[in-house]
Amino acid sequence: MATGKELYRKIPKVDELLLDERVKGLAEIYPPSLIKEAIREELDALRDSISRQTLDERDLSIDAVVERVEARVAERDAPTLVPVVNGTGIIVHTNLGRSLLSREALDRLLTINRGYCNLEYDLGEGRRGSRYVHAEELLCELTGAEGALVVNNNAAAVLLVLSTLARGREVVVSRGELVEIGGSFRIPDVMARSGALLREVGCTNRTHIGDYEAAIGDLTAAFMKVHTSNYRMMGFVSSVSAKDVADLAHAHNLVAIEDLGSGCLLDLRKYGLKDEPTAKESLAAGLDVVCFSGDKLLGGPQAGIILGRSDLVAEMGKNPLARALRVDKLCLAALEATLRLYRDEKSAVRSIPTLRAIAAPLDELKRRARRLRNLLRRNRPERGDVKLMHGFSQVGGGALPEQGLATQVLALTYEGLSAQALETFFRGFSPPIIGRIEHDVFLLDIRTILDDDFKVIAQCFASLG
Ligand SMILES: *Cc1c(COP(=O)(O)O)cnc(C)c1O
Repeated sequence: MATGKELYRKIPKVDELLLDERVKGLAEIYPPSLIKEAIREELDALRDSISRQTLDERDLSIDAVVERVEARVAERDAPTLVPVVNGTGIIVHTNLGRSLLSREALDRLLTINRGYCNLEYDLGEGRRGSRYVHAEELLCELTGAEGALVVNNNAAAVLLVLSTLARGREVVVSRGELVEIGGSFRIPDVMARSGALLREVGCTNRTHIGDYEAAIGDLTAAFMKVHTSNYRMMGFVSSVSAKDVADLAHAHNLVAIEDLGSGCLLDLRKYGLKDEPTAKESLAAGLDVVCFSGDKLLGGPQAGIILGRSDLVAEMGKNPLARALRVDKLCLAALEATLRLYRDEKSAVRSIPTLRAIAAPLDELKRRARRLRNLLRRNRPERGDVKLMHGFSQVGGGALPEQGLATQVLALTYEGLSAQALETFFRGFSPPIIGRIEHDVFLLDIRTILDDDFKVIAQCFASLG
């Protein structure tokens, strides 16, 4: 056994590695800094394993070292943000990027961003304009709103609305609507950051109009409703409708706000989404300001959309926070293109992937699932099997259909591998394929799988050997 000192001496030198033909080959593809960094990392790792006495001496051969340097360079060079196959059946999956953009939005994104554009330039006047005009008219046309403002996301929208309308004053919210949206978005916390004072009323399960009324005082600025879409209360429950909240607010010269969460522009009740009011309905109920996400049910880019009374919306635009929360041209290009599709409901459902996935008829899902199953069978590894089963997809993004959307799932099995092991294998593929495990079976839900994904899923399955 060589001593530690001898091992340290056997570590290849940087110069020696740089002269190796394969490392020279790397230099033709990758920047020198990346290669040097990978070499440094590899040599550090070797010293580390010598000091921990875990080194296998063979790892010190120049061949072995170069091989690992090559792997490190490739790994460092690879983007960390990569496409994945969504087999989870959750359509608006926040962890997987929420909504996919329509062809039309993608085209527009490229067209607008390949060159300069009139983002903040008034072409009629030949001088500085406002970026906020671009989606405003369309939003007003589609929802009947007087004014519209688009910001970075819905969390930003809530922050801006509260900061503008209620800083240093009270906002009355039902205890049943103090929701957490996952991660760090909690209504009481956002409210605190906005400078507004939360005035909770009612009980978790029941809030009455009298509770709102009793809370009104000198400091009251607004009533706010929050769409409690990501959970459901059952049993002895009651809440106050948007219309009643708005009427009471107006009787006392207060403002009525609603955070709609998903915010849809089409009536999706016929597809099973019973509790999603459209933005138009909410405004028609009398709410002064509503806000929602651009990349949930709307199916556009990440954005926060604020609609409502034009005087209030104008005030928000002047809030210094608006600058910090503003949207960029990538978003505006994609949003405008997405919104234009909404002028015709049929074209919206046909072209916007989120809506198409929600509306997909079971027949079509079955047909596509059979096609994928047959492809997987044709390429099936010896010990693998695939079956079709009934299942339920979720809309996600806080929109809760009555009981999930009936779908077809592919149940994949491989003799000797657990569902967990199979899940890990698919997740480690390139591109990663994300499924779900139910009753100890690895499942891929056809609803969120694109036709373009079929081939890689088959390749992944086949590569199990
Ligand atoms: C999703 C959601 C938000 C946050 O929206 P983002 O666009 O993710 O910032 C806020 N409020 C409600 C009710 C939501 O469902």
